Amino acid sequence: MNKRTTIIVVAVLLALLALILFGPRKVFKENIEYDIRNIVVNQTNHDYYEDIVNVGLNELCIEGEVVLIQFHRADEEIEGLDLRGAIFTNGQQYLINLYDLKQREAIEVIAHELIHLEQYRSKRLVGTKDTIFFEGVGYKKGQLPAYRKRPWEAEAFRRQVPLQKAIQDIVLEYKE
Ligand SMILES: [Zn+2]
Repeated sequence: MNKRTTIIVVAVLLALLALILFGPRKVFKENIEYDIRNIVVNQTNHDYYEDIVNVGLNELCIEGEVVLIQFHRADEEIEGLDLRGAIFTNGQQYLINLYDLKQREAIEVIAHELIHLEQYRSKRLVGTKDTIFFEGVGYKKGQLPAYRKRPWEAEAFRRQVPLQKAIQDIVLEYKE
């Protein structure tokens, strides 16, 4: 590379860096408008958890469900799960446990948990005392495959990506 080319390359890299550091940034909207089609009870002080769950459920075309959101208690282990969130169901309602997450991270974690909600809702994922069934195949709780190899997790990690993007498009906006 001659001197001139080097200077141009460095200038372009600096311009890109400036754009990343100082360019327009997306932030969480103050008021997000969406239809209420589910009962979402948020027992945390992060209002955005409720918005993200409502928007995500709408994106998945889910309605008529009851979802409780609680902070995960630090003294309870979430067994081998995403470690930032977990979802439980008694067959009628859902409980989403979340760590103290900032907005962008919350979108990612909630998108993942909502895919599990959809799996439970469609009965493709069923948990019993000692066995987890996914698409009719039973997995003994004591001998589950590695976390990411569990088929319901592999699906959640795959399907959370477009859901996360769809939620972001609705709840985030460029800062004025
Ligand atoms: Zn998961």
